[in-house]
Amino acid sequence: MLKAIVNSKIIFEDKIADDLIVIYDKNISQIITKDELLKFDNIETMDVNGAYLSSGFIDIHIHGIGGADVMDATPDALKTISKTLLSTGTTSFLATTMTMSKKSIVSALENILDNIDKVNGAKIIGVHMEGPYINPDMCGAQDAKHIQKPSFEIIEDYSDIIKMITLAPEIENGYEFIKELIEKYPHIVLSIGHSKANYDEALESFECGISHATHLGNAMSGFHHREPGVLGATLNSDVTCDVIADLIHTHKASLELFWKVKKDKLILITDSMRAGCMKCGEYDLGGQRVRVGDDKATLDDGRLAGSVLKINVALKNMRDNTDMSLIDVVKSVTTIPAKKLGLNSGKIEVGLSADMVVFDESFDILMTIVDGDIKYLRGR
Ligand SMILES: [Zn+2]
Repeated sequence: MLKAIVNSKIIFEDKIADDLIVIYDKNISQIITKDELLKFDNIETMDVNGAYLSSGFIDIHIHGIGGADVMDATPDALKTISKTLLSTGTTSFLATTMTMSKKSIVSALENILDNIDKVNGAKIIGVHMEGPYINPDMCGAQDAKHIQKPSFEIIEDYSDIIKMITLAPEIENGYEFIKELIEKYPHIVLSIGHSKANYDEALESFECGISHATHLGNAMSGFHHREPGVLGATLNSDVTCDVIADLIHTHKASLELFWKVKKDKLILITDSMRAGCMKCGEYDLGGQRVRVGDDKATLDDGRLAGSVLKINVALKNMRDNTDMSLIDVVKSVTTIPAKKLGLNSGKIEVGLSADMVVFDESFDILMTIVDGDIKYLRGR
C-alpha cells in the first residue's frame, strides 16, 4: 500500500516546503499538494505534526555504536550498529574498519560481505577501510604496529564492497599505489588521512586520484603559512572532505572556517566508536583501551580515540556554531555524501529510495524510514 507523510516541513535542496506531501512505497513515488491527496482512497497516512522531513542521514565514517564495533566481525555486531543508528536518523552507513592485523581486517570484511543485506536497520552501503596504509607518525587512535605497506592483497577480494579507503600518500610506493588503485577500482573513493604529507605531496596525491580528505584537521599535517600541509592543500583545492563536528575533535572556529571555504564539498561524519549511545566507562577501539566520558573517548595517553558523536548532534552543532542553514547542514549528510558515493538516495525526489527521517527543531529524531519501512519511532 502507498504511504503518505502529512503535515511536515519537507527539506529539499533549495527550499523547505510545508504545503507538500511525500507519497512513497519502497521509493519516493510522488510529491503532491494537500488537495491532490483527496484523490487517493487507499493510502496510509502519517501525520508528523509540523516536524521536519528530510532524506535519511548517511554516515561515511563510523566504526561502531551501541556497544558493537565493525571489527568485532560478527553478524550481531553489524545488526546492533544498524539498529542503534536508526535513533540518530542514519539510514545508510559505510562500515569502517581500523588499522589492525591483516587477519582481523579480513574477518571484518568477510563478515560484512556475508551480512550486508541481512541487517534490519540502517543499510550498510559498503566499507570504508581506514588504514592500514597510513603514516605511523599520524596514526591517531589507529595502532601503529599494524600499519602495512600498500598492497592489493586485501582489496582485490573485497573490491565489490569497499567504497572508500583512507590512506597516506607519502608512504613507500604511495603515489603508484593510488594511481593503480584508481585505475583498477574507479568506484572506490580514495581519501587522504592519517598523513604527514606536505602541501606539495598532498597536491600530487590529488593529481594521482585522491579526491577526499578524512576528518579534516585530525591526524594530518596542519596549516602553517610557510608549509600549509594536508590541511592547507585540502582547503585550497576542490577535493571533498569530512569533519567530526563534535566541538572536541574540531574547534568551533575551524568548523566555521571549513564551511566558509569548502561549502558543498563538506560532509559531516561521526567517526563513532562502540561507546556511542552507551554509558561512560571503559571500552576498546582497534585493540586499544579507551576511556569514555560524557562527550569524548580517549586512549590511555590522552589521545582522542574516535568519538561518541551522533550524526543528528553533529548537524545541530554545525547549525548552532556556523552560518550553515538548515538546508546546508542536511545536505552535508545527505545529497553530498550520496553524490560522492553514487547512491540512489540523498534527496527527497521522486524515484529515489524512501530513506527518510523526521526530526524536530532540536534535531531530536522522531521517526526513521528505510526503504519505505518505518524502522524507528521515538518512544516505541
Ligand atoms: Zn575512524
